[in-house]
Amino acid sequence: GEQPSLTAETKLLDTLQKVFGFHTFRKNQESIIQAILDRKDAFAVMPTGGGKSLCYQLPALLLPGTCIVISPLIALMKDQVDGAKANGIRAAYLNSTLSAEEQSLVLKDLQSNSLDLLYIAPERFALNHFQDMLKETNISMAVIDEAHCISEWGHDFRPDYLSLAALAKLFPGTPIAAFTATATHKVQQDILDKLGLRNPFIIRASFDRPNLLYDIRFKENPNAQLASILRNNSGKAGIIYRTSRKSVNETTAMLQAKGFRVLPYHAGLGDEERKKNQEAFIRDEVDVIVATIAFGMGIDKSNIRFVIHADLPKSIENYYQETGRAGRDGEPAQCIMLFSQSDIPKVRFFIDTMVDETERAKAQGALQRVISFASTSVCRRKTLLEYFGETYPHDNCNSCDICLGSREVVDCTVEAQMLLSAIARTEERFGATHIVDIVTGSKNKKIRDFGHDRLKTYGVGKTHGKKFWRQLIDELMAQKIIAKSEGLYPALHIQEKAIPILKNKARVEMVRIKESPAPTAMTK
Ligand code: ADP
Ligand code: ZN
Repeated sequence: GEQPSLTAETKLLDTLQKVFGFHTFRKNQESIIQAILDRKDAFAVMPTGGGKSLCYQLPALLLPGTCIVISPLIALMKDQVDGAKANGIRAAYLNSTLSAEEQSLVLKDLQSNSLDLLYIAPERFALNHFQDMLKETNISMAVIDEAHCISEWGHDFRPDYLSLAALAKLFPGTPIAAFTATATHKVQQDILDKLGLRNPFIIRASFDRPNLLYDIRFKENPNAQLASILRNNSGKAGIIYRTSRKSVNETTAMLQAKGFRVLPYHAGLGDEERKKNQEAFIRDEVDVIVATIAFGMGIDKSNIRFVIHADLPKSIENYYQETGRAGRDGEPAQCIMLFSQSDIPKVRFFIDTMVDETERAKAQGALQRVISFASTSVCRRKTLLEYFGETYPHDNCNSCDICLGSREVVDCTVEAQMLLSAIARTEERFGATHIVDIVTGSKNKKIRDFGHDRLKTYGVGKTHGKKFWRQLIDELMAQKIIAKSEGLYPALHIQEKAIPILKNKARVEMVRIKESPAPTAMTK
């Protein structure tokens, strides 16, 4: 009847407040918890920051016995356990970082029924003697974190996860709950099959992060752009992602020299230093971390106000995960990507050196999707959500560079003709910088040496700045109207598609960033 469910509900809210200090459940949390308490299996796809931990930590407290959590992120276990303990939950973890003595203490606690929560690595679960021991223990429920790792279709397959198929047989009457932040429908079905979940309660939460503003800007002078973003966000926490260790170091040094409180983070630093820098960031002793993508997996810092991609992210998935570290407290946060077509050849070159053919093809496909994400004029949020198989129901998200109208579509046919003509008249032997110098009428030595100040196209495009011409060249390359040759001194070449434009039979449109300042503020 009504009465018992009401008390059950009150009890949930009571625990939520007393133990976790929260007043309301986030979307989907309550229904997942309810399913688990009804001893049903559950499967949930929820975005990073969606609040997955609570979905099993709360039932772990209410159900008798120990909840085991299988997680591949050994580096995170200690933090998670510390966090749970701070809330008064009896939690522990078992992994290779513990000494033999420490491990036997944990096992003793487990066997004497004094743990609510035990985190273990999948390798451990795969051991027969460990499974035998679990059979003798009072297990309240089993949780599989990062459940996509069981699927070979996913992007992070871990063979040890296959052993988790044994869970359902090992604990016939015990609920199993699997969580992940990334699963296409195909991966989801694979997870359900492989784990053998029994008529599970399924939640696919929306991947939309309404408090995040997505802003892709033309990358023209990254150092100046980064400094300006930091200046506009002074005292706020942020992450700047760069691809290489070298550029992490250079960007850090550049920003430190300008007086910003920033520290580097990449795999080339010693364990000590990495740890020190990460802690300084978590404790708000520095504002910004400049990092390779190695950074962020293990941090639960909820007040990150901006994430900047100063280089191209590896994939849409990476972009979503990395930007997802911003605004986990639900307050507004910005995700800025500095994008230029001229970054693409470097990445392509790197991908071409990959030995494994399947990996290489995957990387090429992923890069292509990032490029089209960044270069189209479709709402960023819509594109991201569609990538994850969701349909975004609105035309205007009001919180991305496209929807905020920082872009406009302009006809650039005449300007494109100027560029094409400058390229043709110099016999397709020069690069972008020189071509821009010609149309803008630069008086530098190279122009004079080649006599290019006598060309018909010299100075015809003076009314636009260099930035405009750079953007237009990027656009013409993206539209395959021109192409860049390989090698040390890449030259611009005219492609088939340029002919009708030169003959005035086809037009060129460009999505342009309006000169008004890019969107920074957003209304709450
Ligand atoms: P996920 O594992 O899905 O990435 P977490 O479990 O780490 O997310 O939760 C993300 C953040 O949201 C944490 O800081 C957590 O304390 C907070 N959180 C979770 N549930 C709630 C809630 N009901 N109300 C307020 N904050 C919450
Ligand atoms: Zn939008």
